[in-house]
Amino acid sequence: MYPFTYQRATGLADAVAGLKADPQAKLLAGGMTLLPSMKHRLAAPSSLIDIARLAELRGIRRDGKTLVVGAATRHGELTADPIAQSANPALARLAGLIGDPQVRARGTLGGSVANNDPAADYPAAVLACRAQIVTDRRSIAADDFFQGMFTTALATDELITAIRFECPRRAAYAKFAQAASGYAMTGVFVAQFDDAVRVAVTGAGPGVFRWEAAEQALSTDFSTRSVDALSMSADGLNADQHAPADYRAHLVKLMTLRAVADIIGATA
Ligand SMILES: Cc1cc2nc3c(=O)[nH]c(=O)nc-3n(C[C@H](O)[C@H](O)[C@H](O)COP(=O)(O)OP(=O)(O)OC[C@H]3O[C@@H](n4cnc5c(N)ncnc54)[C@H](O)[C@@H]3O)c2cc1C
Repeated sequence: MYPFTYQRATGLADAVAGLKADPQAKLLAGGMTLLPSMKHRLAAPSSLIDIARLAELRGIRRDGKTLVVGAATRHGELTADPIAQSANPALARLAGLIGDPQVRARGTLGGSVANNDPAADYPAAVLACRAQIVTDRRSIAADDFFQGMFTTALATDELITAIRFECPRRAAYAKFAQAASGYAMTGVFVAQFDDAVRVAVTGAGPGVFRWEAAEQALSTDFSTRSVDALSMSADGLNADQHAPADYRAHLVKLMTLRAVADIIGATA
């Protein structure tokens, strides 16, 4: 690790002021991604501003048709929360599939979404559930937020305070986990709203993306049959030591089938 200073933010304004004062400073939430990066000398922030305990960033509440989750909410808290379980059960279940118990005890929603790892689980739910990413200065639609591998619409001194998930009528997340890391080799979140179906894919490409052909097919006929009739192109998908692109294309279709089957109570 390179040397750095540490400060625990006293409030939201204090955290934002710290970021503005030092362009090399980084927010510290769960530390599950940032600290290993620092240990491997892949990140060298001049200072860490700890936001993990800020009350303004905690809490889960229902607000009409949306579920509002504070950015510092830990994965384990979200999966166990009765409001989340009732408002968006697929999201609550997804949180329970992240990493292992230690990761779920420390890692946060805001840290994961800000980091935008191409194999992270939450981005699929954020994109499928037409979420708004609320920051200290604005609200960003999920469609505009994710901008490719580890890249988002956030400014360097911008802090996510909460995420507002639209509550779908029905939804499910199917994940094919990479055996060693637990990250998504491919994960698909299918959300059915009164006016649309959204299908968001993580793990398969350089960033989370929507599978629009599946959205259109499921909007016409919400069944495994309509997904089965589709073919997923391998163009642009990831190919690495874990899986070639055509295998990931196969997984996108299979995970979509599983999510739809889960929603309608069939088998895929
Ligand atoms: C062993 C292991 C297994 C894992 N498995 C999975 C998995 O299966 N699926 C999965 O999705 N993830 C997985 N993760 C990642 C995990 O979910 C992390 O918690 C998450 O990626 C980062 O969240 P964090 O709160 O730890 O953020 P940190 O590591 O503290 O921060 C990450 C980045 O986000 C920034 N940041 C943090 N909070 C905010 C905020 N509120 N606003 C703006 N920027 C912010 C930080 O400055 C930093 O740049 C795994 C991690 C480990 C170590």
